[in-house]
Amino acid sequence: MEDDVAPESVVAQALGWVDERTRAITPPIHISSTYLRDADNEYSSGRVYMRDHNPAFDQAEAVINTLEGGHQTLLFASGMAAATSVFQALHPGDHVLAPKVMYWSLRNWLMTFATEWGLDVELIDMTDPSVVRAALRPGQTKLVWIETPANPLWTVTDIAGTAALVHAADALLAVDSTSATPVLTQPLALGADLVMHSATKYLNGHSDLTAGTVTTRADNEHWQRLRRVRAQIGGTLGSFEAWLLLRGMRTLYLRVRAASASALRIAEHFDGHPLVAEVLYPGLPFSSGHEVATRQMVGGFGGMLSIRVAGGEAAAIAVAAHTRLWKRATSLGGVESLIEHRASVEGAGTPVPVDLLRLSVGIESVGDLTADLEQALARAGDPGTNSTSSR
Ligand SMILES: *Cc1c(COP(=O)(O)O)cnc(C)c1O
Repeated sequence: MEDDVAPESVVAQALGWVDERTRAITPPIHISSTYLRDADNEYSSGRVYMRDHNPAFDQAEAVINTLEGGHQTLLFASGMAAATSVFQALHPGDHVLAPKVMYWSLRNWLMTFATEWGLDVELIDMTDPSVVRAALRPGQTKLVWIETPANPLWTVTDIAGTAALVHAADALLAVDSTSATPVLTQPLALGADLVMHSATKYLNGHSDLTAGTVTTRADNEHWQRLRRVRAQIGGTLGSFEAWLLLRGMRTLYLRVRAASASALRIAEHFDGHPLVAEVLYPGLPFSSGHEVATRQMVGGFGGMLSIRVAGGEAAAIAVAAHTRLWKRATSLGGVESLIEHRASVEGAGTPVPVDLLRLSVGIESVGDLTADLEQALARAGDPGTNSTSSR
C-alpha cells in the first residue's frame, strides 16, 4: 500500500493485503502451530512455532503498528496479557508509577502479584504534573503507566507533558490508550515510549474476542525482554481471533467516530438533568480534563462516559435495571451500548463513587439511546416504581 494514504484507508484495506498465490483479497486464517524445517536444517520461511510466529498475527500487528506510528507491535491473548507483560519485562526492585484511577483489574494485579514479585509500585494522581515530578525517583523509577481518558471517571492525563517529566528521569512512559483508540490519540507522536490497547474493546469492536497489543516507539532492552515474555509465557492469541480482530478493525474509524459523536450528544443532553448529579466526559467544556483533551485528542473525545445518578447507589442500580436498549454488561467499545454499575464490579476499596454508571456508547441511533436512558432515569426516580421488579 502507498505510504501517503490516510489511516482510514490503511485499516479499511488492512494495508492493501492481497494473497500472492490465490489473489484473494481477504486474508486466509493460518492455523498451523508449526512450520517446516528445510533439508539443510534452516527455516527459510523465518517461522518456527506458533508461540513466536503466525501470519495472522503479522497482519493485525502491521495494521496497528501503522496506526500508532510505532517501531513494532505485538499481539497478546488479552489486554491484561499485554499490560502485565510490560511490567513483567522489568526487574525486581524497579520502581513504577501508575495512576490511582485506572482500569481496575490491572490496578489489582499491580498491587498483588506485581508487588509480591518485587516491583515497587506507587499509585499517584497522574493528572497533576507536580505530583508526578515529586514521585519520580531518577535511577530507580523505570516505568510510568498512564491511562487516558481513564476508567471510569474519564480523567485526562497530558501525555506530552508527562513524557517530558518521565524522560528527564530516564524512565519509560507507557500509555493504556484503550478508550482513546489510535483514531483519536497518537501517544507515540506525543512522546510516549509504549502504547497498549485492550483490543477486546474498540480495535475489535464486536464483543466477540479478547486480545491485547503493545506498540513500541523504539527497539531497546525493555522491548527485547517484553518480546521474550510473550514468547516464553505464551500469552499469544489464537489464529481465528487474530483474523477476527483484523476484520473488526476494518471499520474502526467509522465505529469510533460514530460512538464519539453520540457520546458527546448524550453527555450534553444529560449534563444538568435533574435526575443526574454529574456527567463525567472530557468533551464537556467545563470538565476538568477538557483543556488537555482538546489538545491531545483529535476528532472526538471517545465513546465512553459516566453519569452519577442523583438518587445515589440504589437509584443508579435501578436505572441500569430499567434500561431496555442499553445492555447491562461489563466491557466497552463494542457496536452495542453497555451500561454498568462499576462499584458493584470493583468491590471494596474502589475509588469509584457508588452512584456512578459507566456508559459505553455503541453505534445505535443516538435518539434511541437518549430516550432509553431518559425513561430508565424517570422510572428509577419515581418513588412509586419498585426499583427492580416492575417492568
Ligand atoms: C478492558 C481493559 C483492559 C484489559 O483488557 P482485557 O482485554 O479485558 O484483558 C485494560 N485497560 C483498559 C482501559 C480496559 O478497558
